[in-house]
Amino acid sequence: MRSSRLVRVAATAAALALTLLFVVLTPPASAAEPWPSVRQGATGADAVTVQYLLRQHGHDIPADGDFGPVTAAAVTDFQAAQGLTADGMVGPQTWPRLVVPVQQGSSGEAVKAAQTQLNKYGAGLTVDGAFGPVTDGAVRAYQGSHGLAVDGLVGPQTWQSLVSGAGGGDPSGFSLPLDRGALPREAYGASHWNANPAVDLIVSYVPAYAITSGVVDHYDSDSCGIGIRLLQPDGSRFIYCHLSERAVAEGAQVSAGTRLATTGDTGNSGEPHLHVEIRTSDGNARCPQSYLLAIYDGATPPSLGSLPTGGCTS
Ligand SMILES: [Zn+2]
Repeated sequence: MRSSRLVRVAATAAALALTLLFVVLTPPASAAEPWPSVRQGATGADAVTVQYLLRQHGHDIPADGDFGPVTAAAVTDFQAAQGLTADGMVGPQTWPRLVVPVQQGSSGEAVKAAQTQLNKYGAGLTVDGAFGPVTDGAVRAYQGSHGLAVDGLVGPQTWQSLVSGAGGGDPSGFSLPLDRGALPREAYGASHWNANPAVDLIVSYVPAYAITSGVVDHYDSDSCGIGIRLLQPDGSRFIYCHLSERAVAEGAQVSAGTRLATTGDTGNSGEPHLHVEIRTSDGNARCPQSYLLAIYDGATPPSLGSLPTGGCTS
């Protein structure tokens, strides 16, 4: 009697444990995005990611973002060594063998590959192959906003999600205006020094990036100094002031994360900083704080028209 009850309790516990294990191991829906096919002729982030990963596996090829015959030959060698169809194309068969799990403390070419992928989504990381706390924060923000387990580990599911997405090349992509490591989160939520809706990001002479896609308008005034307006299709714009120099041509169409300028101290500035302002097509200046904090957190920012026109704080 007693022993059969124990058996029942044990069986129930085992079933519960199995259920929990199943829940934990079931991949989130976003992992179902298919691996992309990257082949000869490809350029850009996915091509250089393949090159970094081949280098991680000991193939001595340049990581120049140009998937030419040398890269294709290295892919073919890698596939043959793995017992895969040696067709020189990195697709659903090859990706799972090529990616390498990386996390905080990792270093090397596979970390450069992960940093390159995170930058597609506006992380603004330095691609240095050193997986430190800034990269860890970017991985967790990405995982949190893409339905993945938030563990800081770039394993098969996170790799698949990263390489299968279009990132900042997608018109819906967003980027912080500065490198993620340049300022703590609270800097983006700080109130402006006066009542004008804007935010002052206190940095000196560092790269500034397009917050989202848009058309570049060179804009200079006594107060703004050397400035850029990033024009949106609906007539709203992001305004960057006090730059030391611009890095993009007038009229250029840019995507989120494109380097626009170097910050500085021009115009009515006082100390080196980047003034960021949002104006909607009705001419109203809007508080950028909640918009920038959403980007920092890897969330979709609110619509520009919903932002308050005064009393800007986080
Ligand atoms: Zn300002």
